[in-house]
Amino acid sequence: MTFHRAYNFCAGPATIPEVVLERVREELLNWKGRGSSFMEISHRSTDFLKLVFEPARENLKKLLNIPEDYHILFITTGTSHQFAMVPLNFLNLKPHKSADYLHTGVWSGKAINEAKRYGNINVALSTENNQFTKMCSPNELKLDSNASYLHYTPNETIHGFQFHTIPETHNVPIIADMSSEILSRPIEVSRYGMIYAGTQKNIGPSGLTIAIIHKNMAGFANALTPTLYQYQTYIDSGSLYHTPNTFGIYMAGCIFEWLLNLGGISEIAKINQRKSQKLYDAIDHSSFYRNPVQKEFRSQMNVIYYLPTVELDQLFVKEAQNNHLINLKGHKSIGGIRASIYNAMPEKGVDVLIEFMQEFERKYG
Ligand SMILES: *Cc1c(COP(=O)(O)O)cnc(C)c1O
Repeated sequence: MTFHRAYNFCAGPATIPEVVLERVREELLNWKGRGSSFMEISHRSTDFLKLVFEPARENLKKLLNIPEDYHILFITTGTSHQFAMVPLNFLNLKPHKSADYLHTGVWSGKAINEAKRYGNINVALSTENNQFTKMCSPNELKLDSNASYLHYTPNETIHGFQFHTIPETHNVPIIADMSSEILSRPIEVSRYGMIYAGTQKNIGPSGLTIAIIHKNMAGFANALTPTLYQYQTYIDSGSLYHTPNTFGIYMAGCIFEWLLNLGGISEIAKINQRKSQKLYDAIDHSSFYRNPVQKEFRSQMNVIYYLPTVELDQLFVKEAQNNHLINLKGHKSIGGIRASIYNAMPEKGVDVLIEFMQEFERKYG
């Protein structure tokens, strides 16, 4: 049987660059001639610290141009843990102990529901009444200048909705869940109080979250916060208070090296721009496919679209799969098709998808 690696459009855990997987396979049994894999060594050993952990942190810093006054933390959790960690650690930043949240999709909604358990949460805007497809007008934005922070989700993975500018908060620190867009385009880290991202979209396998926190934000955790939910614990121990996800950190490091070899964020951003542009063009130039998101807020990472009927959506997913274009089914909450085209999706994969879409339209349109 011949082996055929498909183009995988899964929203997460998502496709990983083939060259990175080959490197992992190469190194798996006998890492750097040590006679064991990188998974079988102590997280406190010089080998792990000097050859895996520190290079990963340094390369992330280089890729995102992270200034010196930020902590870079590796936290062994899924992203959703942050929905509790953020309010527990930062609501106390100001005397009002309140925070502003933007509700622009499922993920920001989950962050809001969790944060409400810990304090006064002001939903400064919600686009729920238009099914998270459009931004509301600026005068509907109800920001509180006494808020401890503002939380938002720059890229809503399920609705394919992405901010292309940073909200203006007038000195209220901004906290962003960048899980499904980190490393896809340049960001100005200094505009944020904190950035967090789970790794399973753009940085490798699941089970690891990266947090980038401004130094002035640390040390305000609510007194009852469990040790492992306090960012300070990770800051004080260099993210090594307990055994971290060493495999996840190793993989993240491989992805960072892959990106640096490619030319860094500015290069991948150009590719991502091209990939998403040609896919949206293909959708817009057809009356068979339809994307409901306001043009200025369309996601470069998660492109959603609908065919004329639910039956055609289903047939599309099935026939695509037979053509090695896999995991195109939209999220169950909104249906349709979702093509997640993260960093690791080659431009060729998008070209093949577009050809398939045109073929499908000729057949059934
Ligand atoms: C995938 C995703 C999450 C959830 O990640 P888990 O690791 O499953 O908790 C949260 N936020 C965003 C924006 C995501 O894309």
